[in-house]
Amino acid sequence: MKKILLIATGGTIACRRTQSGLAPGLSTEELLAQVPDVKSLCEVQAVQPMNLDSTNISPGDWLLLAGVIEKNYESFDGFVICHGTDTLAYTAAALSYLIQNTRKPIVLTGAQHPIDREDTDARQNIYDSFSYACSGDSGVCIVFGGRVIAGTRARKTRTKSYNAFSSINFPDIAELRDRRVVRFIPYKGAGEPAFTHKLDTHVALLKLIPGLPPETFRSVGELCHGLIIESYGVGGIPDAYLSELESILQAGRTVVLATQVPQEGSDLSVYQVGHRLKDRPGLLEPFDMTLESTVTKLMWVLGRTREPEEVRRLFYTPVNYDLLF
Ligand code: ASP
Repeated sequence: MKKILLIATGGTIACRRTQSGLAPGLSTEELLAQVPDVKSLCEVQAVQPMNLDSTNISPGDWLLLAGVIEKNYESFDGFVICHGTDTLAYTAAALSYLIQNTRKPIVLTGAQHPIDREDTDARQNIYDSFSYACSGDSGVCIVFGGRVIAGTRARKTRTKSYNAFSSINFPDIAELRDRRVVRFIPYKGAGEPAFTHKLDTHVALLKLIPGLPPETFRSVGELCHGLIIESYGVGGIPDAYLSELESILQAGRTVVLATQVPQEGSDLSVYQVGHRLKDRPGLLEPFDMTLESTVTKLMWVLGRTREPEEVRRLFYTPVNYDLLF
């Protein structure tokens, strides 16, 4: 029988009702007691390194989770992480960079309703996650609402429905049908798992709006090592910020010119407003990567190097299906 480690971190899935709203409170024993069928799939052990609403999850927690997995990697066949849905896609993307080449499934899941509610999706999501974790080799992924999504491709696109997550610019990896795993994309990993222990959290995201003052643009850029600019369409920078951008780049910062449009990604070569920046050293674009992956990949890359050519090489090296361009 396979051995799976359950890592509980909090979230709605583990929430109790309190007078001031839902707050994480259930222990791993209480969670597992609600899904007794899991015992027929595998042997389970559990740890609970934190018990947070995922609004409060930070990069330090991603490193902590990666550390728990690294410590237990040899002793288990797979890992199921219960997590709040709000920042689950960021954690899944971060773990995809922090733990590369894993063939042992690292599955993240959560729920839209607490597990003690009759109409909860938590029991199904937990069962499906264990089922997928026992089904063979896989990288970091999300199992939610019967879908299996690559850890670098997920986004929370619904705040209330059971199908809260979408796979952006990439198909689902697999599906759970009547509790059976139907795989669409075979696992192609190779080699030994590689763990990273450092992230550069000096990364900021600036979403452009028409009329944003140039001083705001400049001051956000001056506060970080890596600036992601969510621009419009396939990407470009308004003339009003060109000199601000130049001084941000000249100070040795990395700028990623992304798009606010949820599907299909960037292509700076199309319009003059983007083309003029395309080959500017220090400036990158995410192409079809999700924002969650762009943010966490930049933290991972800058945690390793700030040398522009190496930043470019690492950023454009695909990891866990994050980049297809
Ligand atoms: N606020 C909760 C959290 O992310 C929402 C959820 O889990 O669905 O922890």
